[in-house]
Amino acid sequence: MKITVIGAGPAGTLLACYLARRGFRVEVYERRADPRLLDEDESRSINLGLSARGIAALTDIGLMDTLWPLTVPMRGRAIHLPGGAVPFQPYGAHEGEILHSVLRRDLITTLVDHAEAQPGVTFHFRHRLAGLDRETAAARLVHEETGVASTVAGDAVIGADGAFSQVRAHMHHGLRAEHRQEILEWGYKELTIPAAGDGSARTRLEALHVWPGEDALIVAHPNRDNSLTGTLFLPVERFGEITDPGEFLGERFPDTPDLMPHLAKEYAEHPVGHLVSIRTSPWHHRGRVALIGDACHAVYPFYGQGMNSALEDCTVLDRCVGDHPGDLGAAFAEYQRLRKPHTDVLDELSKQNFVELRDRLRSPLHLLRKKADLLLARAFPGRWVPLYTMISHTTVPYADALARARRQDTFLRGAGAAVAVAGLLAAVPSVARLVRLSHFARRARLAQRNTRKGEPPC
Ligand code: FAD
Repeated sequence: MKITVIGAGPAGTLLACYLARRGFRVEVYERRADPRLLDEDESRSINLGLSARGIAALTDIGLMDTLWPLTVPMRGRAIHLPGGAVPFQPYGAHEGEILHSVLRRDLITTLVDHAEAQPGVTFHFRHRLAGLDRETAAARLVHEETGVASTVAGDAVIGADGAFSQVRAHMHHGLRAEHRQEILEWGYKELTIPAAGDGSARTRLEALHVWPGEDALIVAHPNRDNSLTGTLFLPVERFGEITDPGEFLGERFPDTPDLMPHLAKEYAEHPVGHLVSIRTSPWHHRGRVALIGDACHAVYPFYGQGMNSALEDCTVLDRCVGDHPGDLGAAFAEYQRLRKPHTDVLDELSKQNFVELRDRLRSPLHLLRKKADLLLARAFPGRWVPLYTMISHTTVPYADALARARRQDTFLRGAGAAVAVAGLLAAVPSVARLVRLSHFARRARLAQRNTRKGEPPC
């Protein structure tokens, strides 16, 4: 069988590896140029936080040994507070519960190299999907430079073409499909924290750095060359209003102007990116078309799970294909049934984490709560697992992780209430004694007054 994959992002390239392993012929079409042929400047690359789910999928396909040297560990969050303090919040209670920063370009080129080395896999760069017959899986592709169009036949088309998927649009066209798209009122711009003149890092390297604030937020991932790639998040209209980004950021985050010597230039030159969340259904059509990754469940990036969940999709779809040999219709239906409830939960969690990063990270109460979570996790290993740990350091399905975290919260609230009641009960005898004492004191005062007046004391 031959499968046409549209999009060579993390999902499309990993899926090509999985499908090749199952013996499919795979043709991947990507509208951008081959990242392996671009020089550093042409392929300016964002970096992404790789966590347990992505690592499990890449390990499954045998790629993590090649990728480890291309990653930088992030052992926790370094939170830059306005007063200059930078508290460090570990990502987990146990050794190894950490994230790994990887350049998207490094990840994709590794995946493309691996996929291409499998028999039956071919990549076609600079080809954009322009049309799709969902009943026959015939895809119309246009070469980005020459404009030459061609139609490609196959047994099925997989849309791995990101949040604004054209495969999804053609598959849903004219059908009773659900589509909920939200664009966050905040956008983002990339800014660099370069290495210092002597090549060393300007700030602690092995951490995810966060500058939290109500009207601006920066998150920075480390790179192997001792630089960090920062992402400045702002309400979209603010980007155009700021004339002096150094002054704007300096007022809110005093250490940033020193860390970002190219701030003014980068702020002027780098485009504003938009953040989108997508929930949609169906994810497939009659065994001819299916969606994967951001094409069927784009989320805001604040939980660092978009790519990780896209990679995990590939593992789930691969299993479904294996469980339904020769029946892609059944495999695709099973894949959506197993996966969508969990990516819906991830969507909610990613929205909540935006509020956490922006508003709560500075709160001492929040930091205390995080510490308590880690202490409980250390005290009761395996029995108390913080939600963040389950999402980022395990492959527990997202909805199961949330359900378990809610049970833990209920228990904690119950335990808190029980402690409060116990405290109150312990205090009752002393309160009663006080009440009795004050009662006797009042009677004694009354007796004295009556004696002075010549009346009987009581
Ligand atoms: P994409 O990466 O969008 O890839 C789709 C591919 O399809 C692209 O190469 C595109 O060129 C191609 N394409 C599109 N249309 C066509 C067409 N018509 N024809 C042919 N090709 C086409 N996730 C994490 O897990 N961790 C993080 O730390 C993280 N940080 C993020 C930070 C930011 C600022 C943003 C915006 C996102 C972040 N994400 C993160 C999310 C992550 O980038 C995405 O979830 C992930 O890239 C999705 O992979 P994908 O392959 O599904 O789609």
